[in-house]
Amino acid sequence: MRTQLLIPAAGMGTRLGASQPKALVNLAGTPLLVHTLRNFQSLDLIRDCLITVSASAREAYEKCLAAAFPDHAFELVDGGNERQDSVLNGLAALHRDTELVIIHDAARPFAPADAIRGSIDAAGEYGAATVAIPAVDTVLVADESGFLDNTPDRSLLWACQTPQTFRVEVIRAAHDAARRAGRMATDDATLVRLNGGRVKLVMGSPLNFKITTPMDMKVARCVLDGVTE
Ligand code: C5P
Repeated sequence: MRTQLLIPAAGMGTRLGASQPKALVNLAGTPLLVHTLRNFQSLDLIRDCLITVSASAREAYEKCLAAAFPDHAFELVDGGNERQDSVLNGLAALHRDTELVIIHDAARPFAPADAIRGSIDAAGEYGAATVAIPAVDTVLVADESGFLDNTPDRSLLWACQTPQTFRVEVIRAAHDAARRAGRMATDDATLVRLNGGRVKLVMGSPLNFKITTPMDMKVARCVLDGVTE
């Protein structure tokens, strides 16, 4: 099936305290976005890759990509205010004959190959798939005053990761429905479910964490030290 990778990378990294888009932040001498793309390059998945970028920093993305991947052309698409807006812009820019889209956060540089392949296979079979991991901590739901409201059954809880992979018509229909209903979600698989679709869960890994805070950057440096030791 004709497959395209879509990397939402337009986030500003506010929680990281960064003065530039999070995807361009330096991790052990290399921009975060480059780490993430190299991971997909090793699986031969960066051909025809679309990347959503923060419009005000477009040139910085272009420079960073040209330096790291002189032989690859990436299609840069302006992101929106929220991740969902950025993904919607990316979906509009897919090639006409693309059948599967792999959506993966720029901020997750360590997605394991078997999880990526698993999400592609599952989306081919079921139409929609997300990588996720079973919750290890008990999850508490708070009320608005900050008191414990309820404790969902942990055996059914999973923490969402990316990649999330979809048949193009499935994810486009989900985004269209969300836009009409004024619905926002922090991931795309949830939009498919809210549109009545079934989403297959594929086993991820704790290593596939999303770099969000300065502490995550420290952990990421430790992971890279471990890999290169
Ligand atoms: O903000 P968060 O870390 O959840 O963002 C997940 C991914 O979505 C990041 O790779 C970020 O760059 C991207 N994003 C985007 N457009 C936005 C917000 C986030 O492409 N408006």
